[in-house]
Amino acid sequence: MYKRITHIGIAVKSLSESITRYEHLFGFGPKHTEEVQEQQVRAAFFRIGDSGVELLEPTGEESPIARFIARRGEGVHHLSFEVENIEEELLRLRSEGFVLVDETPRTGADGFKVAFLHPKSTGGVLIELCQKL
Ligand code: ZN
Repeated sequence: MYKRITHIGIAVKSLSESITRYEHLFGFGPKHTEEVQEQQVRAAFFRIGDSGVELLEPTGEESPIARFIARRGEGVHHLSFEVENIEEELLRLRSEGFVLVDETPRTGADGFKVAFLHPKSTGGVLIELCQKL
């Protein structure tokens, strides 16, 4: 079961410049920032009601965010949905023919386990499923 849009992920070159831009846009600052070493990203989270915006800055050239920016420039990177049971949902989606980037969930940012669906099976949209740890 899908519960909410957790956040919209946005790939940025500079987290500090982008935080300033979004602080001006929203009129408030990020809830928190953190580094996910496994993914080579630094992230900042702005809470918008029950949802949010996740700014993602690459910390290394092998970061998926660095590759995304090199290919497509800065901008919307993924949509994240919170689900009740991520393992069950991955099994169901695979049986429906979706291509999974992650066969099993891994530890993401902000206290969630996460898994991505490949954009080639979702019409070009990178979709992240997450479940609170
Ligand atoms: Zn995300």
